[in-house]
Amino acid sequence: MTALPHSYRSDPLLVCEGCQESYRADIWLVVDVAERPDLAARIGEGTIQTGVCPNCGEKQVVDMGLLVFRPNGNPVLLFSPAQETTPEEDQDQARGLLNLLYQTMKDEWQGEWLNDFGPIPREALIEMLKD
Ligand SMILES: [Zn+2]
Repeated sequence: MTALPHSYRSDPLLVCEGCQESYRADIWLVVDVAERPDLAARIGEGTIQTGVCPNCGEKQVVDMGLLVFRPNGNPVLLFSPAQETTPEEDQDQARGLLNLLYQTMKDEWQGEWLNDFGPIPREALIEMLKD
């Protein structure tokens, strides 16, 4: 049985604010820190949802929710909402990302992971991942 990757990225089409070129950015929405330590490092650097223009190097942050899965962490699931969204939109995003992760796990999924589940500001999430 081949395990599906737990981490999930979106590749929105961005228009560079510097040179007006359009490009596909690498924006991560679900990160399994055990599976992808490289992405855990990008969360620490605050660039996990930053597009970088391949033409001129201009950076652009895409404001989206982020779900982090820590198989050995407590809590196991961390959700950091987008900055400019309403609580309702945050709930929708959280639900969508949880479902994406669930689809990659099915039998491995544990309902108790949701016991302490709630939104965490991005800076607090970055601090929690340093431990
Ligand atoms: Zn550019």
